[in-house]
Amino acid sequence: MSIRPEILEAIKNTQLPEDRTFGKALLPVICAATFDGVSWSDLEVKLDTEHPVSGGSIAVQYGQSIFEGMKAYRVTAEVPQVFRPYDHAKRFNRSADRMCMPPVPEGLFVEAVKLISSLYRDLIPQEHNSSLYVRPALFGDDYSLVIMPSEHYSFTVHVAPTLPFAPGMKSVLIERQDTRAAIGGTGGVKAAGNYAASFKSIMRARKLGCATSLWLDPIENRTIEELSLMNFFAVINGKLHTPELKDSFLPGLTRRSVMVLAAHHGIETVEVPIDVNVLLKQIEAGDCTEAFSTGTAAVVSPVRSFKEADGTEIVISDEVGPVATKLREHLVGIQEGTHEDMFGWMQPVATE
Ligand code: PMP
Repeated sequence: MSIRPEILEAIKNTQLPEDRTFGKALLPVICAATFDGVSWSDLEVKLDTEHPVSGGSIAVQYGQSIFEGMKAYRVTAEVPQVFRPYDHAKRFNRSADRMCMPPVPEGLFVEAVKLISSLYRDLIPQEHNSSLYVRPALFGDDYSLVIMPSEHYSFTVHVAPTLPFAPGMKSVLIERQDTRAAIGGTGGVKAAGNYAASFKSIMRARKLGCATSLWLDPIENRTIEELSLMNFFAVINGKLHTPELKDSFLPGLTRRSVMVLAAHHGIETVEVPIDVNVLLKQIEAGDCTEAFSTGTAAVVSPVRSFKEADGTEIVISDEVGPVATKLREHLVGIQEGTHEDMFGWMQPVATE
């Protein structure tokens, strides 16, 4: 692929941003392809500011927009390694299908992710617990108010280097007022609007000193679904419990990976409905000894306590539990190259 000299120059001149608060340090060059109603263009490497999207686009007006979140690592390997890119591509296309958008060929998706990670490889932090966050997105860019699927689409990949991230213990607000997604809705995919719909709850949670909110099922407001950006696990009577998958919340790739690692360590995982009120009683009785959440950004993140909207707090533990510690160490080790990649999850990017 030929990349314009001024783009290569822009990459070379990019300094690692000082403020690397998660998601704020977007780098200026992106990978992009466009769909003209029939087929996909070749990938192009360009400045983000060269990619036009209007407020009059279908994506902005009607929310026809999806994304993925994934990471490239360079902690021990010189060549950046991407975590499960084809699985992210598959989930991306399930999201595209749900939102009535054309699938992005898996090869194009993975090529774009690897290309931008390779171009920015010198800016991928090498400290333990840091990485390059990679954000593929697909959106309808027809300039139109017709309430129909867009004919034209953009596929873009932005990247942001992340700070070393060592998750502390967090409190979580049990969200008993709003629900995030409906049965048969879009909760099971990464549709942009799901995230906007969760902001109000997250702000309520922050006011109460919580990191985020815990979403319950949309019918009875009783069984646990997920956190706003992560899946949920609890250790109850020595077994790992996680909500069984439903179409109202996201099947996380970290969730899936953690379950594989748990089995490898001889820890049984049960996928069952978890009634939040029963769980609170199990915490009080000492049967639930740890809880944690899983997701690309924080990998495995321990939950210290649950809070109710009235401020009542139910503490699980002040210490990170042994199961969360073991699974986090193993998964981060695979991602950073200090543990053997026994399941073939890491993919090197090509370097010329
Ligand atoms: N739930 C939601 C709503 C999410 O946005 C994410 C992050 N993609 C997750 C769960 C965790 O998914 P993953 O492990 O694939 O990052």
